Amino acid sequence: MPNIPFNKPFLTGKEAHYMYDAVYSGKLSGNGKYTKLCQSFFEQRYGFKKSLLTTSCTDALEMAAILIDIQAGDEVILPSYTFVSTANAFVLRGAKLVFADSMADNPNMDAAIIEPLITEKTKAIVPVHYAGVACDMDAIMALANKHGLWVVEDAAQAIDSFYTNAKGEKRALGSIGHLAAFSFHETKNIISGEGGMLAINDDRFIDRAEIIWEKGTNRSAFFRGEVDKYGWVDVGSSFLPSETIAAFLWAQLENLDLIQNRRKEIWKMYFDQIQDWATNHEVALPKVPNNSTNNAHMFYIVMQNLNDRTRFIEYLKSLNIHAVFHYISLHKSDFFKAYDKSFSAVLPNCDRFSECLVRIPMYYDLETNDVLYISDRINQWDIKMQ
Ligand SMILES: *Cc1c(COP(=O)(O)O)cnc(C)c1O
Repeated sequence: MPNIPFNKPFLTGKEAHYMYDAVYSGKLSGNGKYTKLCQSFFEQRYGFKKSLLTTSCTDALEMAAILIDIQAGDEVILPSYTFVSTANAFVLRGAKLVFADSMADNPNMDAAIIEPLITEKTKAIVPVHYAGVACDMDAIMALANKHGLWVVEDAAQAIDSFYTNAKGEKRALGSIGHLAAFSFHETKNIISGEGGMLAINDDRFIDRAEIIWEKGTNRSAFFRGEVDKYGWVDVGSSFLPSETIAAFLWAQLENLDLIQNRRKEIWKMYFDQIQDWATNHEVALPKVPNNSTNNAHMFYIVMQNLNDRTRFIEYLKSLNIHAVFHYISLHKSDFFKAYDKSFSAVLPNCDRFSECLVRIPMYYDLETNDVLYISDRINQWDIKMQ
């Protein structure tokens, strides 16, 4: 019986080679050759005005919160069905979190319910492109324009995924909001162990982003010869990764199409193999709207209830297939309940995904045989027999 992990980081084979090069080039700190290679790659391929590598998506979100100048009491609208970092970045600056429910058939935040949540204090909307599937960005950007709000895309899972707007323009996720944060954590499609990127799509943020990135100094401008000395000009932190991390990431980026094509193949195999089973058992598979691509970040199944999900995960585990669930709704977390005792909204779709969604193994090295094996076992799972 094979033992199939939930995730396995994919190595292209060039990572250690480029890291070795970075180590012996004598330039180990950040913003060197490999950082610049990665950043230009992202800017050219996805149309970001500026890309800055960070040590995580969490860091990129924190940079975004500083850039849009979140102050204590400012309100931020975000989904509750997301990773803690989406919220923490704003909580660190004292924001009030206003959680919006997911859609009924998709864990993404429901854009249709955002407008009533907007108040005089609202400063930003933070859509999360769950599983790399686009939120309704036309609606979100229209609301942001109408009410003068910033949009920060949490694109942690959304590398190489695209959204087609009402005008028929196909744009990369992360290139639509004013700012966007990506993750290269080892559980994502493209990895560097820990790692991330801030994408800046509004010119007004570019200069300040570079300063905040490098500890609040104008060091980048100094090295370009734009100022004759560098010093402390703003708040900031150390958000940039070292060159060894960027070197690792570069090896992945050179193989981005290879990685993406294989992941999409695996995703489609799963879908084709278990589609009928899902219909027969009234279990939901991911829905990708027509205006979004699918970057095959994850394959998930939405069971009918918590009990079914628990038994399904145990059933797979007994076959050495490791499936996982995630996201305890943030509005039900211990931290948030203490942070904002006044929050009382009910978010039924979010709670349902929190209780019923399960993710099955999805990684580049997953063999076709294993995909067929997993699908076959899923097809043999009969709820009524459990
Ligand atoms: C992975 C993830 C993050 C955090 O990414 P890190 O790079 O680990 O900081 C944030 N938001 C979402 C939606 C994620 O999936």
